[in-house]
Amino acid sequence: MNKQAIYNLNREELYNWGKDNGISSFYAEKIWLNLYRFRVQDFDEFEGLKPEIIEKLKASFFITKLETELVQKSDDGTMKFLFRLKDDSLIETVVMNHNFGRSVCVTTQLGCNIGCSFCASGLMPKNRDLEVAEILAQIMTVNKKLMADSEEIISHVVVMGIGEPFDNYDNLMKFLSIISDDKGLAIAKRQITVSTSGIVPKILEFANEKIRVNMAISLHAPNNEIRSKLMRINKTYPLEELFDAIHKYIEITKKRVTFEYILIRDLNDSLDEARELLELIKPLGKNAYVNLIPYNPVSELEYERSRDEDIDKFFEFLIQNKVRCVLRREHGGEIEAACGQLRSNAI
Ligand code: SAH
Ligand code: SF4
Repeated sequence: MNKQAIYNLNREELYNWGKDNGISSFYAEKIWLNLYRFRVQDFDEFEGLKPEIIEKLKASFFITKLETELVQKSDDGTMKFLFRLKDDSLIETVVMNHNFGRSVCVTTQLGCNIGCSFCASGLMPKNRDLEVAEILAQIMTVNKKLMADSEEIISHVVVMGIGEPFDNYDNLMKFLSIISDDKGLAIAKRQITVSTSGIVPKILEFANEKIRVNMAISLHAPNNEIRSKLMRINKTYPLEELFDAIHKYIEITKKRVTFEYILIRDLNDSLDEARELLELIKPLGKNAYVNLIPYNPVSELEYERSRDEDIDKFFEFLIQNKVRCVLRREHGGEIEAACGQLRSNAI
């Protein structure tokens, strides 16, 4: 029999497997706790289980392990991992330190089909979706390394690595249910954020999910003309449709939405564009939160980071107009922590 990746199962599926194999929910829960509460990565080291249960586990499953190809650490403590999957593909995972804890940025696909013109991931057409186990194993592997170094483990998760999470929707939702399960990793839903390029039907589906985590929208432009140049998905889902969906999302979830806005020199960073952005998000009031991110240049592309004075003017304009806004401290800029760049340099 082909063994399955145990990280592909949510708690209910594990209990069902237990039932089919004569294992009570009491013991199935112990398996779950070993996996996610105690984060044990070898069935032989699972505690509180009879040997025959361990044997059954070993006969049916394996625990996904990622081979660490490379780790880079920057001065602010940001760590970037390059992991090798069992089919030899490479993925990247970034760990950032904040004053409120430690967050991990996970990859959901090999490459990305959305093909935004400024993004290194968009240079790599999607090869395949990652399995739930492969997304989850990024967190489990990083936590193991942090624990080995006696460091604080992951408290926040951002789904902002390579790939469009809403293009791997079912696996994304299962991943979210596993990491937020209160008997397991128990990562608080308010500490989880999924970033999307703006796939309108999925935004509406996401709004109606039982699992409610934060959503960020990669906006990057205040009008269709600029946005379509940067993100061809804007031709399929232009700003009018995107904002319609966002209004509905807020109505249903009562959650605020984060807008990511990368500042690219002479492209989207003038005061005119700041004004347009203000008009666009004004109707959302306190439910809009803007993350300004100076563009991180990609060697194959000609886009440049905005000048510091333009970044400051843009930011100050929004603040003066009472927009909730942060200028994102750069994490690991010098190790090229922004999307896709380590991977595309290493291969
Ligand atoms: N596909 C999803 C999530 C992954 S990208 C999305 O697009 O939202 C995560 C964020 O990094 C997005 O806001 C993306 O636009 C941004 N990004 C991509 N390349 C970048 C770069 N070179 N510099 C700064 N931000 C970048
Ligand atoms: Fe894909 Fe996001 Fe990069 Fe666009 S910005 S190519 S959606 S990873």
